Amino acid sequence: MKIKETYEKMLNDSNTANMDGTAFNDYVKGKLTSDDLAPSAPMETNKNSCTPPEDPAETKKKRYMCLPAVVFEADLAHEKVHQDTCGKLNVKEGVNVKYPYAYENYLQNKNNYAADEDNAYNEKIKVLQNWKNANNCK
Ligand SMILES: [Zn+2]
Repeated sequence: MKIKETYEKMLNDSNTANMDGTAFNDYVKGKLTSDDLAPSAPMETNKNSCTPPEDPAETKKKRYMCLPAVVFEADLAHEKVHQDTCGKLNVKEGVNVKYPYAYENYLQNKNNYAADEDNAYNEKIKVLQNWKNANNCK
């Protein structure tokens, strides 16, 4: 929740006015780290192939074994949003993408970058909230 809010707040921060997507993301990360909210990101999406750099099952074994299973599911849902955005722009995922730099170029715009993260965090939050509801957690 906090991370998503930070992305939204930073978009209106005058310091980010002339930043491209990469600079913007570094700035947001710096802000999160100074607030002790460094996003744990054991998962990522390759911007050219639109796929995770390794088999998610492998990542789960290496990085998620000591965490509740729902954390893995939530991160998976988050990355799925990036993969879908990427797949739509690059056209097809994997080794046969038509436009390998379309997604990367898209993210150079900070508004696009924030929007994609916003959607991804919404999906992650949805998974966590469904889990909470299903287990009657307050
Ligand atoms: Zn993300």
